[in-house]
This record gives sequence, structure tokens and C-alpha cells, in this order.
Amino acid sequence: MEQYVVKNKRTTLERIDKFISPIYFTDVNLRGRLYPLKTELTGIKHHKVPDCARVPYHVAVNGEYEEGKVGGSYGPTWSTHWFRLDIDIPSEWTGQEVHLIWNSASEAMVWKDGKVLQGLSGEDREYFIITKNLGKSNLRQVYYIEMACNRELGEGQGGLINPPDPKKYFTLSKAHIAVFDRDVYNLLQQFQILYDIVKHLPENSNRGYQALHTANDMINTCDVFDKSTFGNVNSIAQRFFAQKNGDSQHTIYATGHCHIDSAWLWPYAETIRKCARSWSSTVSLMDSYPQLTFACSQAQQFQWVKDNYPDLFERIKHYVKEGRFVPVGGTWVEMDGLIPSGEAFIRQFLYGQHFFQQEFGVHCEEFWLPDTFGYSAQLPQIMKSCGISRFLTQKMSWNLVNKFPHHTFWWEGLDGSQVLAHFPPGDSYGMKGKIEELLKTVNNFLDKGRCNCSMYLFGFGDGGQGPTEDMVESLLRLKDIDGLPKVKMATPGEFFQQVESAESDNLCKWVGELYLELHNGTYTTQAKTKEKNRRCEFLLQNAELSNTLALVLHKKNNVDYNYPSDELERLWKLLLLNQFHDVLPGSSIQMVYKDALKYYHDIETSGKKILVNGLQDLLTQQAKDTNDFVQTAIVFNPLCWQRKEVVVLPPNADDKLKSPARKKAKADISTITQISPPEGKVLALVDVPSMGHAVLPLAMADITPVFIEKKDDQLIYIQNEHLSAAIDPLGRVVYMAAANTEKNVFSKGLGNQIVIFDDVPLFWDAWDVMDYHLETRKCVEEGIQYAMIVEEGPLRASVEVSLKISDHSYLKQVISLDVNCPYMKFSTEVHWHENHKFLKVEFPVAMRAMQVTYELQFGHLQRSTHFNTSWDWARYEVCGHKWADISEHDWGLAILNDSKYGYSARDNVMRLSLLRSPKAPDPKADMGVHYFTYALMPHTGTFQEAGVIQQAYNLNCPLQLHHLKLPSTIDSMASYFSVDNPAVVLETVKKGEEGDDSVIIRMYEAFGSTTTATITTTLPFTEVHVCDSLECIIPRGEVDFYPLVSFDHPDIVVQFTPFKIATLMLMV
Ligand SMILES: [Zn+2]
Repeated sequence: MEQYVVKNKRTTLERIDKFISPIYFTDVNLRGRLYPLKTELTGIKHHKVPDCARVPYHVAVNGEYEEGKVGGSYGPTWSTHWFRLDIDIPSEWTGQEVHLIWNSASEAMVWKDGKVLQGLSGEDREYFIITKNLGKSNLRQVYYIEMACNRELGEGQGGLINPPDPKKYFTLSKAHIAVFDRDVYNLLQQFQILYDIVKHLPENSNRGYQALHTANDMINTCDVFDKSTFGNVNSIAQRFFAQKNGDSQHTIYATGHCHIDSAWLWPYAETIRKCARSWSSTVSLMDSYPQLTFACSQAQQFQWVKDNYPDLFERIKHYVKEGRFVPVGGTWVEMDGLIPSGEAFIRQFLYGQHFFQQEFGVHCEEFWLPDTFGYSAQLPQIMKSCGISRFLTQKMSWNLVNKFPHHTFWWEGLDGSQVLAHFPPGDSYGMKGKIEELLKTVNNFLDKGRCNCSMYLFGFGDGGQGPTEDMVESLLRLKDIDGLPKVKMATPGEFFQQVESAESDNLCKWVGELYLELHNGTYTTQAKTKEKNRRCEFLLQNAELSNTLALVLHKKNNVDYNYPSDELERLWKLLLLNQFHDVLPGSSIQMVYKDALKYYHDIETSGKKILVNGLQDLLTQQAKDTNDFVQTAIVFNPLCWQRKEVVVLPPNADDKLKSPARKKAKADISTITQISPPEGKVLALVDVPSMGHAVLPLAMADITPVFIEKKDDQLIYIQNEHLSAAIDPLGRVVYMAAANTEKNVFSKGLGNQIVIFDDVPLFWDAWDVMDYHLETRKCVEEGIQYAMIVEEGPLRASVEVSLKISDHSYLKQVISLDVNCPYMKFSTEVHWHENHKFLKVEFPVAMRAMQVTYELQFGHLQRSTHFNTSWDWARYEVCGHKWADISEHDWGLAILNDSKYGYSARDNVMRLSLLRSPKAPDPKADMGVHYFTYALMPHTGTFQEAGVIQQAYNLNCPLQLHHLKLPSTIDSMASYFSVDNPAVVLETVKKGEEGDDSVIIRMYEAFGSTTTATITTTLPFTEVHVCDSLECIIPRGEVDFYPLVSFDHPDIVVQFTPFKIATLMLMV
């Protein structure tokens, strides 16, 4: 054949593009031959589900159906429409591959005979393969389509993260069947690869030119209307593709994936269907492509599919067994990585791993958190204690300031635990099987030379869908082509195993938290969600404690006890679900928060009932021989240290406590009560042993009453045996010192200064607070009601103040100091109606310190107060838990809080972040009334010696007063566990997951010290075993990672290294 040799690269490249274009020249090009025959569907029947409900198949098919049609418009947003398709396939198509094409510009799902077959999603996935080889007997087919009136990424009005448009309608633009020519498809795939090689290899690449000329030859040889030419076209392609790489080429481990946010720009209920749509598509692909692997996280989503789509779940089970559908992560959901408590982190793994073990016999080996906004320094230890030593994310590539220096490395946590971490270097979990992504993966990889493989996760994500046929076809063809990285379809396990066995010695190490330099507003946004999260974390642990103690006493008395395992597990799982990485951080739409608050309400009401039932059962067992039951007021202390604190008695408290004789006894320092105006609430100082109870009323030793006085200088002076302070008319603290020191913590400025900032981010509204917000500081200093004394002791002294924040918002504060309490409390009520403002409270301290210490899960860490390096200043807003402390040698100030997570510190100014007001994706985020409390604790010595850690627990977990009908002979006081070492916090007491004979206790070393603690119990335990966090007993001799423990009843002696978590199983 005569050939002209054309050297113009551009025209040749564009020629290839047009030959496979779905837009241009489709009447004569190859793409136009992909579907050579088609016929429109007639007889489409339509049923609209009323009230935007989502109904199961058997309900939907029995609905009332009317005529539906292409061009029809269906809505509104979040409604569901079912379509019945009666399809007659032309008999002359016999022997051909036939597709159903459906495009409703929305998500949809194909059903047949009550079974879900595949998801559809507008342009991204618009065909379903009816048959690859049409037989004479299946010309008539009936399908149902469940159309959801939303797209994969929700329905943001005018922008991705905007609040959803509630009135959107969706047009059915395509509904037909067509013959699919797979020979044409295969050629198109080859052309696409050659085209992409030319386009994405370097300009002068030898291999690029080879691809260009190969594709050009193929077009010259190809007559799109004469398939007999295809053989020769293929031969030309094969000559190119047969040329392989050398051994040194980088290997990409490609795993199918589908990131499904458990709720985000859509509600939880829609996610259930997203899972079905995405995973049915994936298992269908697996039927056709035996090489395809798929990594799938979040036990909760599996549970949803199991409950709602049992036969899809069976299909998934089949592929899990084959090792291709791979459960990963080991957690209940992909949770936020900073805000949940340590115990909540462990429960994510406990319930997640148990689910995967029970359903699939699989133990997840990788912790999978690709999309979360920062990673706690305590995660490596928690992972390892849950049987996981590998970690995957990619979110650190979103850093705004500094590029994280590794993709494959050892991540060392707070206690020194190390896990192998990998960030897929393509910086995404939603790759599309494209050559440019493979090249980016290799070029971007920061551990070249140390390691020669990396992971590549492909499939549409965030809103679901997963891998498509095009992606799989492309990656299979890219297996080994000279000039491109090698591609291997593999599981995450195969990748990590390769690194562990061949390359782990060469890797670098990163110590401490993985701080994401973005999305730092998420420590504060949706304050109510965060408050409820904190409350519920404590509540569920307390409920477990009371019921576990009850269980053991019943065992001791040989009485059966019905421990509420199922209900507690149900409530924990609701709490864990709300810790999902777009819910707890505050980045979801309003619908999600309505659901989340409903779940919290359920946890609070059910949890409180369980807690009280447990206490009732526990105390009844204490004196089981008596029949004399009396109404008794008891105070319960769930924490593992003795506490002497002021409690508020309810109106139905023991009348003797409210007698008028007590009222006038204010000056009598031996009294234990105080009656405060205006409603006459009764306060009492009570002393309760560790993890135990005390019966009211109590005999009480002398106290030093709290002092309060307003002086001529308009300042209010307030003092107890721990601290003294002076408060100005705006509620600001002009003076504060720990007892016996004259050192004013606020000698350089006013403490408790409320400040407000402009808070306009670059794009991610609910997520981001930018560095420049710090330049817009304004003080709130307009009083509505100036500070006035409202309680005068002897047990509690209080000051009330109200401030105007703006024309729309105001704040009320009760500043109070209790007898025997080392912190001053700021109980705050904010009426908040702002637009893009950030409310903080500021504490300019006298101390000079290079670092501030912040609490995190089971420990604490330090961050700089200076902006020396870019790594320092990128941390202008950080996450902490119940307390933060700034100290010099021998004195300092701790800020405690009951529901906040955002802090900042620069030079000597510490700030606690209170409220934000973003408008997307929830336009009502944080609008309304908020109640929260923070506290200031000036101290001498170190914060450890001063007891800051314990006091922060006390603030968050007040002593509980309960009125119960109890035997008249119960002990007036009892402690069930105590710890002799303040460095060790015993936090969790629960029944073992397996059987009724074991109790799990979990504690941690909180000071950062190597130390020994003795835990003393008054309960009749017979044996003690060291466990991992999944409650598996660790055989003796395998104690490297676990603490050493010895037991001689009633004492359990545990040896700790800094921040070590210890889980023990006590046998009853
Ligand atoms: Zn996500």
C-alpha cells in the first residue's frame, strides 16, 4: 500500500482523537460503530413514591403505575420514581451483545425479579448489559428501574457544597436497547491508550512517537464499515503492545475502590442505596473480570446491605471468600481522625473487626482512612492493639502549606508504636484507569529508591459508583507496556506484603500526629454535634460501668443478670456512625444533622435509662437479704479517683437538707449545703469514693468557704482554698493566681476576653478557617448586664454577666468558683446568629513558653507557640480534647472545656474556639442557642502534679445524683475500683464481648512516664489476663507491646511506659 510519511505530530494526534471521538464525526468514525443497532423502549410504566420515601422492591412493584416516557421530567430532589420496563428485543439481534441504555441524569438502580443488578448514574454509567449473547428464548425481559432524584454528589444549588436545591427535576433523556459491538470497543480501548501515551509521555519521548505512528497506521488500515479489516488493525496494535518493560520499572498495585461517604451532601438513608448501587455494579464487573479486586471499608455499610439487600450481600460474600472483594479498615465507619475519644476509636475497631470476622471470617489488616482531616498521634498504638499494623490515607496531599515528605514510611505514634503507612502517590482514591494518573503516581512518589511500588485506587468515589468496565479494560491492557509503569491488579494486602518483605528496611520514619494543613474549622463547626458527641461518649461508658458492676455482684450472689449487651452495642454503633468523617467534623448538609441529633437523642434517653437501671441493680444486690426498701439519694462517681465536689440537689431532695435551719447557716462552715437564689436550688458538698457511690446526707468535715466580694474599684474578688481571682464588669479576669502564690496569670492582659473574627474561607466553607482570619480580631466589650454577684457561698460563689456580640447575637455567662475546686468555671449561653464570623475566647497569659500541651486520645502532645517554620505557622488552629495547658517551670494555666475541640496559641495568647457560622453545605449551621462550659485552672508545679488531667475529667463527668428505691441497709459508701497512681487513668469497665464471666477494664498512662500502678478492686475476680483492644488474650511471652501485669487479689499491678494503653480481662 502506498504511504505518505507525515511528520506533523499535532495533526496526527488530533486525527486519532477524532477517530474515537464520541462528539465529532460519529457518522464515519470508529466510536459511531459502537452501538450499530438500537430501538427505543415503548411501554415504560412509572410510579412515584409518595412523600419522598424510599421503599423496598416488593412495595414499589405493587404501587400504581402510569405511563412514563423519554423526555419526561421527574422530581423533586430526594424523591424516588420506579419504572417498569417491558422489553421486546428484536429476534434478528440473536447472538449479539445487547445493552439497556438509561440516562435520567440522576442515580438509579436496575432490578429484576426482586434482585438488585446494577447501579446507573447519568453519563458516568448509563448502560446495563442485558446479555452478552442473545438467545432466542430471552427476547422478552421485564426490568424495574429505581430512580433516585439526586446525583452522586448531591444537589448543591449552583455549586458542589452549596445547600441542596429542594425543587430540582430530572429529565429522562435516554431509555433504549442497543446492540453493542465488542470488537469495536476493543479497538477503541487500544486507540485510547496509544493516544494517551502520545499525549502524556514527555514531548520528545521515543515511545510516544512509536505510539503515534502505530495509531496512525491503525487508522489507515481500519475501514470502520468493514470489520474484516479489524484483524490487521489489531496486529499493528499488538506489535506495539508486545514490547515489555525492563525489571527496574515501578510497579503500581491497582485496586478497585469506591469511597462512599456514609452521609455528606445526602442523608444516611440515601447512602444505603448508594452502597447497593455501587456494590452491585462491582460484583457484576467481577463476574466478567476475574482479575478485578476491590477494597471496601466501613462495616456499617456492609450491615446496611445485609439488612436491605440480602442477596446482594450473598454475592459479595462469594467474592470476599475468593479474596477479591476485600474488607479493609477494620472500623465501623471511616471516622474522624481527631475528635472521637480514645475509647470511641477502639470501639470503631472492636465493632468493625467483629463484624468482618463474624460475617466473612476476615480480620482486616489495614487501617483505611483515605479522606479524613488529620490523624491523631495515638492512632498507631490503637491500630496495633486492634491487630492492625498498616495504614492508608491520601488526605495529607491536601496540605495547603507544606508538602508531606513521604508516601511510604513508618508512622510512629505517641507511645512509640510503629505502623507501615502508605499514601497512594496519585493523591486520590478515585482514579479512572488513565495513563496520566499512572505517570503522576510514579513521578510524584517521594520514596523513590527506597521503595519501588505504590498503590493506585480506581473507581468513582465520594458519592459511590466504584470501578467501571472502561477502567478495568484500560488497566488490564496497561499491565506491562514498555515506557509505562507496570500495573498489577492486586489487593492492599499484596501491596503491603511486598513492602514489608522487600522494602521496609529502607523506609523513613515520621513521629507524631499527621496534621492536615487544611479543614481546621472542622474542630468547631456544628457545635451541638460535638457537644452531644462528648456527652454521649461519657454516658455510654458510665452506663457500661454501672451495669458491669451490677453483673459482677449478681454473679457473686449467684443471681442471673441480664446485662444489656445488645442495647449498649446498638447505642455505641449510633454514636460511632455519627463520628463519620463528614458528620462529626461538621461538613454535611442540614438533613444529616437532623438525623444525627435524633440518634444522639436516642443514645441519651436510652443510655440514661440503662445507666440508672444498672445502678439500681447494683445497689439492690449490695444488701439483697433485706425487704425494706426506702427512697434513697445516692451520688455516683464513675471516675477512678475519690472526689469531693459540690452537687446540685434537685427539688425533690431530702427535705432535711432544705430545711430553713440550713438556710441561715451560711456562715457556719460545718454546713454542707447552700441555697442559692433565685429559684432556691440546693447545693451540697459531697465526698464520693473512686468508681463508687455515697448515700446522702453525708457527715462532712470542716470546709473553708468560698469568698466573694465586690470592691470599690468595681472588681469582684473571688477566692477559695485553691485560687483567687478578680473579675471586671465585662466578666474578664484581671487577676488570677493559684493559692499561696502572688503570681498573676493575667498580668499581661485580660483573661476571658471574648473575641470575634471574620471567617471567610477560600472555598470549603464549613471546613476551613484560613490563617488570615487572625488579622480581623475584634474584642467583644459591650455589656448588656455588667458583672454582678449571684451566689455568695459558702459552697459556690457566682458572678453573672451578659455581653452584646453584635446586633444579632449575645452571650450570657455565669462565672463560678466552688469550694474545694481548683478551677473557675465559665458556664456560657450564646445566642448566635452570625454570617461567617468566628467566636473565640482569649487568654493572654504571663508565662513564657515555647509550647502548649493539648490533650488527645489517651494522652497529650505539644505544639509550638511560635511561627518559626512553615510547619509551625500552618498550625494556627489545632485540635485538642478536654484540656490544654501552658506552663513555665513550676506554674501554669490550664484551660478545661466540656465540649470544644479547637484551640490556638501564639506567643503568650491562648484561645479556645467557641462557634463558627459557615453557610455551606448547611446554611443554618450553628445558628441558635448554645450552652457550653470552659474553666480556668491556675496551678503550681507541672500540670501532671497539679491534677489537670483529673480535673478535666471531673468537669466533663460531674458527680451524678440519683434517687432510687434501695434496701435500707446498703453501704453508705462503696468503691469498686481504685488506682494508687495519678498517672494512670482507668477509664473503661465493661462486660467482655464473649460470655458473662469476663470483665474488661481499660486504662492508660496519662503523664508520659514509665511507672507502675496498683489497681485495687473490691470485686471477687479470680484471674487477670492481658488483652488486646479486641479482647483477645495475649499469650504470656508476647508482651513486648503490652504492659506487664501481675495479680494478687485485690491488687492488680501494671507496669506502664509513656502513654501505654492497657486492656485487662478480669475473670469472675
Ligand atoms: Zn469522604
